[in-house]
Amino acid sequence: MAMRIILIGPPGAGKGTQAASIIEKHPIIHISTGDILRENVRAGTELGQTAKRFMNAGQLVPDHLIIAMMRDRLAEDDAQNGFILDGFPRNVQQADALAPLLDDMSLRLDAVVLLEISDEAVVRRLEGRRVCSSCGMIYNVYSHPPKADDTCEACGGQVVRRADDQESVIRGRLDVYHKETAPLVEYYERSGLLHRVPADGGPDSALKYLESIGVSGK
Ligand code: ADP
Ligand code: ZN
Repeated sequence: MAMRIILIGPPGAGKGTQAASIIEKHPIIHISTGDILRENVRAGTELGQTAKRFMNAGQLVPDHLIIAMMRDRLAEDDAQNGFILDGFPRNVQQADALAPLLDDMSLRLDAVVLLEISDEAVVRRLEGRRVCSSCGMIYNVYSHPPKADDTCEACGGQVVRRADDQESVIRGRLDVYHKETAPLVEYYERSGLLHRVPADGGPDSALKYLESIGVSGK
């Protein structure tokens, strides 16, 4: 069913993990701005070269670049049956830009899910996070280490630490979240779309919650 969902939450809240469990059950796509940007960095595109500086510093990539990127992505065929947005919008300007994009396509949002987690838990999670450089599978040195050192169990790729997952940068990303992204909570509360889900309820807590409130995208 054509669900249209936004996931909001601080870095490390598990937006990517929750999105993965939702797309297993629903024929919609997962659009992660962080993943798209990292692909651009790897491919060395113009966008990637510009974005890299901001990302490694834990700062937001300029709005006009992100908005143009999302306008293109949402216009693609596979987005027409529904989507989960992970990492966008990330501030009020981006949310203000998203609204007319959806209106133009006569699409409406079904829900905005806020994954709630404390700053201390974020630092602990991200500091231990590792990610497969080939398939994107997420590990954690404390709670879910790869069985063989640095080797992905899913694809044999190399498991690495993201450049922005070190404590000083993590603190900066949290500051950016509280300043820039947290105002979206009130923003979407006003339109009655906001739902709060604890970030420590397991990898499918957002899916279960959405099903429990009957979000089906019809
Ligand atoms: P996390 O949620 O763990 O911080 P993401 O993968 O979502 O990680 O984002 C990584 C980085 O990519 C951000 O710190 C930021 O530099 C950039 N980025 C991602 N989405 C956006 C966005 N909507 N607007 C601006 N910058 C973004
Ligand atoms: Zn892998």
